Amino acid sequence: MNFSKESNKKKQKSLDSKKNKASKTVSTSFVKILAFAFLLFIIVGVCAGIGFVKSIIDAAPAISVDDIVPEGYASFVYDQNGNEIAKLYGTDANRIPKELDEIPKYLQESFVVIEDERFWEHNGIDLKGIFRAVFTNLKEKSLSEGASTITQQLIKNNVLTSTKSFERKIQEQYLAMEIEKKSSKEKILENYLNTVALGRGTNGVQSAANKYFNKDVGQLTIAESAVIAAITQRPTYYDPVINPENNKQRQSIILKKLLDLEKITQAEYDVAINENVYENIQIVKNTMPSTLTQSYYVDEVYKQVKEDLMVQKGYTEAQAEILIYRGGLSIYINQDLEMQKILDDAYTNEDNFPAKNKDYGIRLHYNLSVEKEDGIKHYYKEKEFETDQELDDFIKQYKKEMIGPNDKFIAENSTLIPQPQSAMVIMDQYTGEVKAMVGGRGEKKGNLTLNRATYPTTRQPGSTFKVLAAYLPAIDTAGYTLATVLDDVPTKFPGQKKIWPKNYYKQFKGLSTVREGIVYSMNIITVKTLNDIGVQTGFDYLLNLGFTSLVEREEKNGEIFSDKVLPLALGGITNGVTVLELTAAYAAIANNGVYNEPTFYTKVLNHDNKIILEKKPAPRTVMKETTAFLLTNALVDAVVRGTGKKVNFKTQPIAGKTGTTSDDKDIWFAGYTPYYTAVLWEGFDYAKELDSYAGYHKTLWRTVMEKIHKDLPRKEFERPSGIVTAKICTESGQLAVEGLCDLDRRPGGTVRTEYFAKGTVPTEKCTTHIKATICKDSGLFTNEFCPEDSKIEQVYIQRDPSVVIWDPNKPPNIKDLEYEMQPSMIGEYCHIHGPVVQPPVIPLPQDYIDGEEGNNPPSTDPAPFDPLQPNDPVGVVDPEEDTDDSDEND
Ligand SMILES: [Zn+2]
Ligand SMILES: [Zn+2]
Repeated sequence: MNFSKESNKKKQKSLDSKKNKASKTVSTSFVKILAFAFLLFIIVGVCAGIGFVKSIIDAAPAISVDDIVPEGYASFVYDQNGNEIAKLYGTDANRIPKELDEIPKYLQESFVVIEDERFWEHNGIDLKGIFRAVFTNLKEKSLSEGASTITQQLIKNNVLTSTKSFERKIQEQYLAMEIEKKSSKEKILENYLNTVALGRGTNGVQSAANKYFNKDVGQLTIAESAVIAAITQRPTYYDPVINPENNKQRQSIILKKLLDLEKITQAEYDVAINENVYENIQIVKNTMPSTLTQSYYVDEVYKQVKEDLMVQKGYTEAQAEILIYRGGLSIYINQDLEMQKILDDAYTNEDNFPAKNKDYGIRLHYNLSVEKEDGIKHYYKEKEFETDQELDDFIKQYKKEMIGPNDKFIAENSTLIPQPQSAMVIMDQYTGEVKAMVGGRGEKKGNLTLNRATYPTTRQPGSTFKVLAAYLPAIDTAGYTLATVLDDVPTKFPGQKKIWPKNYYKQFKGLSTVREGIVYSMNIITVKTLNDIGVQTGFDYLLNLGFTSLVEREEKNGEIFSDKVLPLALGGITNGVTVLELTAAYAAIANNGVYNEPTFYTKVLNHDNKIILEKKPAPRTVMKETTAFLLTNALVDAVVRGTGKKVNFKTQPIAGKTGTTSDDKDIWFAGYTPYYTAVLWEGFDYAKELDSYAGYHKTLWRTVMEKIHKDLPRKEFERPSGIVTAKICTESGQLAVEGLCDLDRRPGGTVRTEYFAKGTVPTEKCTTHIKATICKDSGLFTNEFCPEDSKIEQVYIQRDPSVVIWDPNKPPNIKDLEYEMQPSMIGEYCHIHGPVVQPPVIPLPQDYIDGEEGNNPPSTDPAPFDPLQPNDPVGVVDPEEDTDDSDEND
């Protein structure tokens, strides 16, 4: 016997295997059962599946080739009374479908290679493509749509409008096979090329060729063909005008595929890949009569409906565009035609804008078509000018350069866009309905042209942000009241290297309430408020008020950007905001603290009159109603006696805030009445400063709003039950003390009746005012020798000296220093009277203040003001009229 290790091992092995066999037998039969069950399950499943699929297929519409012949229904836009406002049919109203042989082969193939490589081989569905799409989707854990053949896309775009994706998919595949049986590949491709959505309201390749290249489809180069084919699926992302880099990427893929599949030669490829097609792309100029152009409002309706069809209904962008332009929808919008007319009239009246002169400009959009040896070329140029002469000279020079001795001039077209530009939105704060909108001055020469009131146009909000970013959160959540006092003195904030910010009034007002901070648009008070409550709090409130462009943290070219910094308080932010978003935010204050998303339409009906989209109001409380009332009250004050006086038309109470950015490139007025909220912006389309003091924007706001309110009865802002009043001292924000605070020497005094949210009334008496007995001969404290008739009672304020950054060489120009007990006085008693007569040391605060400046104007504090009568401007003299609201952020 071999008892070697080897044999032992073997034995062991065989024992193990026996054991395995036993367990294997058990498991094998188990697997068999399982497999059988599974098989049964599959069979049942397949049968059920076939039944299910059959039911879906049975429900599919019966179609013939005729059904996919391009034909569509225009959509109609109605106002709330059912009046037809606009008809949406894209730019191809008179489109004549092209025969396939009129469409260059390389244009056909550009679509085939990018959309459906095996188009010429498959029977309507592309199994290989489906498997690859499933695999890709699994790998990338995404469910991006893919593997739709051109045949399927044609059906989807023209026959099926249901969005139940699984059902649709099956119907689509079934119908695709049906169509392929009945129709030639060529006919399918022809119909597809005549209907495919190619952005900017275009359907079909001829429409796109006109739109982007101002050419007949037969004249397109290979490079241009690939640009057009690259637009499919995501027309905005691949828009060759606004996103040329994205389009170029896909265009290059198409060209490479055309080369690899031998649809074009290497030489043709080399020319095409190097052709700069983007620089001279047309943003359609003359192809649309102005009577057919959509208004800015309808543009926005289109954008919002498209967005909602994609987000809520799952359509791709291309499908949504087809549905809007060819699906026969009825869209009911919120526009008030009368209001819109008032707005349009005001914007076409040149008197409402600065006259053209060397300070104001014109922006030229210029197209030139020239016939050169190798075909017709289109050139496009954008440039701004200060005078007509400069503009004429430029065009002359440009034509000289572009038209060579052997070239032939074909056509030119100039669009002049007046500058500065402006935009305005009027909204019903109680519903969120946008009633009227203007997205710019000058003739609107196309659909979906630049709208300066909505995305993607964002501008710096400047001082209009002060209320939203600082005071609103401070009052709503941080225990601030309108009476809270902060010191407007030279300040250095954490993280700031120098004294910042400055004030537009080039001095410091000293102790000031939050109300004054709002009324006079005071920079330091605002920044102190935000600093106190924390930038995070301000930031969070802004997000809640509907701003979507704020930057939490963003890295750009190695630099970090964040709007969670103190300049947020003054509206100095990374990306700016839209006029529309600013309107909605102010509307939330106007609507007692309840935010409504701004809406342009109420419902959309499909061709069968079924509602497919509906805007249901979703009001959201974003601040206490007491906060809203307090802010409104202070903003009324700003209009009555502060920076917004020019907007006042007096038949309604008006609350509002001016805004100017530190660089003077954007000016605003954001305001509301008890009826409507309206925000107006002015600025140049290019980097240029405005004369911010001209106040055209305020006059324009008033002109429009006064007309809109012409027949409306006067209404007051409602005072909620949680509001109480108290008599306070504006130097401390504490309760006013009789015989002390009321003896302050300044014009108008410092005692005010102020509104408070219940529970926030101060309980302490004023501690900022102090009273002292002074010898009027020396100006110092009395001593025992001062005669009775020289003794006077004097009231002073005492500030916390530690909050001021003192520059010993240049005493700060702080307006209330003269009412302060000077440090030099403390401990000094009368030198004039007494046993030892010393030379008098008379503190002369006025001299001290004047220092180097010398000739300060006399104190110009406003007349006494009672917030309880905020609408009575009689007798109020504001020295800051016309120099009111520029903010120096430094
Ligand atoms: Zn006081
Ligand atoms: Zn004395």
